[in-house]
Amino acid sequence: MRHTTRVIIAVLPILFLAAHAGTVALARDAAMEVSFAWLIGAPVAAGAAALYRGWKEELEGWLSVGAAMLCWAGGMAATMVNTLFLDIISEDRLSMLLYVLYGVPLIFTLVSPEEEKWPSRLVDAAMAAALGGLFYAYICHLSTPTGAAPQVRELRMMFDIENAFIAVFAVMRYFARPGRRLGFFRAVTAYAIAYLICAGYMNHYQGESDYGHPVDAIIDLPFLLLMWLALEGGFPRASATASSRGFARVVQAGSPMLIPVTLLTVSVLLVGYDPKMAITGCVIASIGYGLRTVLVQLRNFEEQDQLTLLSHVDALTCIPNRRRFDEVLRREWNRREQSSDQLALLMIDIDNFKQLNDHFGHAVGDERLRSVAAALTECARSDFDLVARYGGEEFAAILIDIDPRDATKIAERMRAAVESLLMPLGRGAGIVTVSIGMACAHSLDTGIEDFVEAADAALYEAKRNGRNQVIHRVAPSLRAVQSAAAPQGGKAA
Ligand code: GH3
Ligand code: MG
Ligand code: MG
Repeated sequence: MRHTTRVIIAVLPILFLAAHAGTVALARDAAMEVSFAWLIGAPVAAGAAALYRGWKEELEGWLSVGAAMLCWAGGMAATMVNTLFLDIISEDRLSMLLYVLYGVPLIFTLVSPEEEKWPSRLVDAAMAAALGGLFYAYICHLSTPTGAAPQVRELRMMFDIENAFIAVFAVMRYFARPGRRLGFFRAVTAYAIAYLICAGYMNHYQGESDYGHPVDAIIDLPFLLLMWLALEGGFPRASATASSRGFARVVQAGSPMLIPVTLLTVSVLLVGYDPKMAITGCVIASIGYGLRTVLVQLRNFEEQDQLTLLSHVDALTCIPNRRRFDEVLRREWNRREQSSDQLALLMIDIDNFKQLNDHFGHAVGDERLRSVAAALTECARSDFDLVARYGGEEFAAILIDIDPRDATKIAERMRAAVESLLMPLGRGAGIVTVSIGMACAHSLDTGIEDFVEAADAALYEAKRNGRNQVIHRVAPSLRAVQSAAAPQGGKAA
């Protein structure tokens, strides 16, 4: 944003305030009409700025704030109509309904995390709407339809409670490390605190509905602050908050509780006036909280499954990784001990891979690793075997319920499949091939370490013998298992 634009955005609210106070002071007879125009103008300007920011940043929170501002402006417009044309001195139910509705999108956006899925957000939205309904029911019991409010103190207290909840929620969300929404929450927090103070001042220290004084401009303050922050981008250069990760987690975990607790608070206030409505509020709070908890649990399970899946997959080749290999090998080894099924292990290492990297670079090397992984996987029996990246340019395959002859056939198929890719090593050094060491677990008189060692030893032998071959090694501690006939390229040691 250019410097001059920034200056204009900062000066605008000051001019607005000065114009409001100045024109009201000069207007004399029409002071009230003029003041109303500014009082409606301020939230409309804030709402327009918030909607603009929401559209520009694609942040739903700003749109909710914009809707809240327009509700407030509507409430003030209804107050103006009552005061100027209907001679009703205090706010009527329509204006109070609009003031209550102002809090619904604000509370929703403050307590319902945007990253939640739509069912959770729907439950939050329903509870925020129910909260608005309860607030309104409370108002109806404290006032008459024309706005004469016999219990003015309680009525003001109710608005104080609504404003206090909004301010507390905003502060909590601001300190809960909101990431890319930091600027937004900073702006809303500043606004909510300013509004709490200004509304408190106007409700408790100003005479009833005697609009038309320069001091009315105080009501504009929070809206103009919000307008400025929305146009500025809500402290866009703000650095991260210093709150602890622990606090952020507590807020995140506790957010499903926020609306139910507010609902219960308002229900308790309503008990004396409308027990049925109060019970309804408690029921909605309980069901809403229950639903929210179930949805959070479901999301946790889903995330757990995804994490388990990710923790088993190699990021480069997208085949199972070493962790998965170790797990499956141990599982199959134990199973084999019980059922004495045969198990084969292939250790597969790409020949002269360093040369390929040196010549073509690491990016091409990575691409070749992916191709080799795909070729090896293709040769395995998809329902039984596991081909994993063991580390670096080494792979490993676990072949389950297989006799040595078939295992050798699969190993040879893998060797030939990589060779047939015809991927050059560079500098005329030939093509990419693999050496494969194979071990078969046939008897119970050995440990899993010996089994892996045998396959490793066979791999080294394949390298020593000139690479691009399969060696079936019989470990000293394993009972010898010889393949009846060594297939093409395969050798038994
Ligand atoms: P040999 O036939 O004896 O196995 O020779 P080699 O060159 O394949 O073996 P060496 O152990 O000397 O080199 C392995 C190379 O594999 C070195 C390393 O840069 C490369 N490498 C290991 N992991 C990766 C990887 O994730 N991506 C790429 N591009 N290269 C890798
Ligand atoms: Mg190698
Ligand atoms: Mg290696």
